[in-house]
Amino acid sequence: MLAEHLGPIQLAELASQKATLSARTRPGEWPRLRTIVAGHDGSTEDRLDVDVTLSRGTDGLAVVSVQVDGVLSLTCQRCLGGIRIPIDVDVVLAAVPTQERADGLEDPFDSVLLDEDGGLALRNVVEDEVLAGLPIAPLHDNATCAAAPAGSNQAVTTAIETTRPFAALGELLGRGQGR
Ligand SMILES: [Zn+2]
Repeated sequence: MLAEHLGPIQLAELASQKATLSARTRPGEWPRLRTIVAGHDGSTEDRLDVDVTLSRGTDGLAVVSVQVDGVLSLTCQRCLGGIRIPIDVDVVLAAVPTQERADGLEDPFDSVLLDEDGGLALRNVVEDEVLAGLPIAPLHDNATCAAAPAGSNQAVTTAIETTRPFAALGELLGRGQGR
């Protein structure tokens, strides 16, 4: 498992070495992800492969490159079955000591705030990035969802495919009123 926290000295050393920390993990090893995959974490194919490379930016700040590749099983919000979501995180973060320093960055980096002691909450940062990339309401598509109403498939498809969605909506409303 990835180190939970890097102290300021360790962080500086790893950054000057341009070190890469790698971990092959399971979703259940992450405290917040564990609650999200609850009930679907039995899938043996679910995994999160993490590579974090630390380096030193031109402005002296540590740069944290986070790459996560994997698969998580979330809960379909319609049928409550498992839905497999591919994970592909690739972000570069400047590690800043204060928020003011983050606001002053000229590089097009996202930033991550260091702890008060100058250390980095490594595992938390990685988990944040995975969470940020997840869909808010995961849904199977209609063809594979156990709870997709058969009758609604056609109506939804029509509304999306037509170049005049409001005309289609009008037809649907008119049909409803005729009952
Ligand atoms: Zn579903």
